[in-house]
Amino acid sequence: MTRFIEGLDRGQVSLLPASLDDCVAEDNPVRVVDAFIEILDLRELGFGVVPESTGRPGYHPGVMLSIYLYGYLNQVQSSRRLERECGRNLELIWLTGRLKPDFKTIADFRKDNGPAIRKVCQQFVALCRDIKLLDSDIVAIDGSRFKAINSKAKSYTRGKLKQKLGEIDKAIERYLMELDRADEALTKTSSTVPTSQITRVNRKLAHLQKEAERYRSIEDRMDKTGETQVSLSDPDAKSMTTTPRMPKVVGYNVQTAVEAKHHLIVAHEVTTFGYDRDALSTMAIAARDAMGTDEIEAVADKGYFKSEEILTCEAAGITATVSKPLTSGAAARGRFDRADFAYDADKNVYTCPAGEQLIYRSTTEQDGKMQHLYYSSFCAGCVIKDKCTPSKERRIRRWEHEDVLDRMQQRIDDDPSKLALRSMTVEHPFGTIKAWMGNTHFKMRRLKNVATEMALHVLAYNMTRVMNIVGIPALINAMKA
Ligand code: SF4
Repeated sequence: MTRFIEGLDRGQVSLLPASLDDCVAEDNPVRVVDAFIEILDLRELGFGVVPESTGRPGYHPGVMLSIYLYGYLNQVQSSRRLERECGRNLELIWLTGRLKPDFKTIADFRKDNGPAIRKVCQQFVALCRDIKLLDSDIVAIDGSRFKAINSKAKSYTRGKLKQKLGEIDKAIERYLMELDRADEALTKTSSTVPTSQITRVNRKLAHLQKEAERYRSIEDRMDKTGETQVSLSDPDAKSMTTTPRMPKVVGYNVQTAVEAKHHLIVAHEVTTFGYDRDALSTMAIAARDAMGTDEIEAVADKGYFKSEEILTCEAAGITATVSKPLTSGAAARGRFDRADFAYDADKNVYTCPAGEQLIYRSTTEQDGKMQHLYYSSFCAGCVIKDKCTPSKERRIRRWEHEDVLDRMQQRIDDDPSKLALRSMTVEHPFGTIKAWMGNTHFKMRRLKNVATEMALHVLAYNMTRVMNIVGIPALINAMKA
């Protein structure tokens, strides 16, 4: 036995250090949590810091917030587990001064203080800015689908309801035919079908009719509210596609903007949209404001390509770099692509692969955008027309702000590595946060609660990154400065 490392004797009178503070090392992350809570103006952030004059005194919001921040830093997000940890975890005992709120009090704090908790997350980003960790001029923007507390079976679209009702109609028809056959047998042969079989069919029919009623009531709800989807467990959750090859998720689309130098999440938003194309300017402007800079470059994947969004970014002083989706029908059919036509801004003409000029003809409005039309008068006699267009002439439409897209394409052509920087920057935080969540769903229902949960995850993620970048003592000193 002497060759093994031996533990202490449990019966020993003095097993732990005399002071609780000695149990927590100077570079323990829990000291960062404590120092951060200390510098927050909780009243300003919207927490109720004035105790009730009657009844049992409540817990100070600083204590409750520190429990949550410690929990999310250590992948303990459930209020019941946090209650248990408060009673047995020395770091939490140190942090709370041996207070042990019950799980309901812990859960209610997160539920009732969503806006204030989200501001705390922003406060930490502001702290990062103050200690010069947000001095990059590039942010990568991306969205990821996170599961809600709502199974796919309890999420309905009109298409799914139609399919379910169709299946039920067919099943009802089958059972009714079974009953008809039983009647026929009785009439023709006087032989009776066993009562148990009839009872079984009637029970199945009653069940199917009840299911059909339930689906019809969901359809009625859609008609009344105009909803296109109904999720029964979490009404705010939506069925969303993750990638074309992956199954759908019933959940939320979390948008993040991550700065490219230290990979900190500078802005985030939980949305119920199953697509990203309307989020570029909102996220880029939120990132720019959080970073306290006038000019940034926002890099995003092709899911964010929307001309109007790119224009809004440029108007806000944000240089957008978004890869363009390959949607050219002409190229897919083996004909010249739009990129094969060179635009000359000075002459306002396109030059085609045959060297002819497509000149400006007219301007029309299409899908809310003013489009200029260009074509040549020489297409009829063109020797390579079969490679260009099956129509009378090849027509090119140019959006009135197309120069914004041309400049963006030029930036991508000049430095294609920018797009690779996007995936290296923004995808890692999503993977980490999902792993911290245990690759499962959010703990709470409804958008406002899920947004609070995500704010705590982002805060814990950023805090962990900064502790790794600058070190715990340096971070605590920066907070106290
Ligand atoms: S068909 Fe018209 S636009 Fe196309 S290459 Fe020939 S001349 Fe140019």
